[in-house]
Amino acid sequence: MKLASKAAMPDLETVVKDIADEMRRRPDRGEVASYIPELARVDPSAFGLVVVGADGTVAASGDCETPFSIQSVSKVFTLTLALGKAGDRLWRKVGREPSGSPFNSIVQLERECGIPRNPFINAGAIAVTDEILSGHEPREALGEILRFLQFLAEDSSIGIDEAVAASEQRTGFRNFALANYMKSFGVLDNPVDFTLGVYFHHCAIAMTCQQLAMAGRFLVHLGRDPATGHSVVQPERARRINALMLTCGHYDGSGEFAYRVGLPGKSGVGGGILAIAPGKASIAVWSPGLDTSGNSRLGRIALETLARKMGWSIFG
Ligand code: GLN
Repeated sequence: MKLASKAAMPDLETVVKDIADEMRRRPDRGEVASYIPELARVDPSAFGLVVVGADGTVAASGDCETPFSIQSVSKVFTLTLALGKAGDRLWRKVGREPSGSPFNSIVQLERECGIPRNPFINAGAIAVTDEILSGHEPREALGEILRFLQFLAEDSSIGIDEAVAASEQRTGFRNFALANYMKSFGVLDNPVDFTLGVYFHHCAIAMTCQQLAMAGRFLVHLGRDPATGHSVVQPERARRINALMLTCGHYDGSGEFAYRVGLPGKSGVGGGILAIAPGKASIAVWSPGLDTSGNSRLGRIALETLARKMGWSIFG
């Protein structure tokens, strides 16, 4: 009997390029978010994919140098900062369970006495932002978040899209409802306007796929920044942030994402997803069209293909 020869490891650069080429041609792109008016102006045909491997090699294809609104992907970084500040005390204000509900749902908050299910739904991320803000002026808190991203990505050019922030500040009525509701239970310590001001602005940070994939590297390397070797967070914390990304990073689409992609990931309504293959790669993908849960439609499909071809699922 002839033994099948072992398949050669696929070439990452070719895989990334093939995926980007295919995704750029696909007609089924989902719907660009329009509830934040400024986001509706984004070109739905954009697609970018960047993989930063464990050894620092970068594979990039498509629109990976175009900045986009990271929106809820910022919640990974605000959670990291808030845990650094408050430690496990943070878990008094926010839970760690998947919500099974849309990202801006209000109904669960009432049943659970103003304590949001997890740090990645809007209510949870607003509570996390409130923690970062305590003891600071809003401008200082925002500066801290922005500098953290610039440091992780090794890129001081990362900034905030003020038009997007203003657009959400004008129309973010749901978030005002969520924040006021939590305030009534004493979950928020700061004035609602201040906390939401910081929240809207960190959601409006604009990054390229290249910058986002660089910023995710510490989660690949058990909390270490591979460029300097310095610890950003302890290994245990990095594992736990990855666990929350896997279970809660895509709202009511988290189960489907884990089932199809098998990697920790965090999406945003700007169409970006940061995914982590622990020990292997940090991945950023951007396609502005969303599915019905508010997650990038082609972004998820691209990650599913990438994880399958590279054998990166955390489930083996
Ligand atoms: N800024 C957005 C909001 O609060 C973030 C939501 C998201 O990306 N899912 O609605």
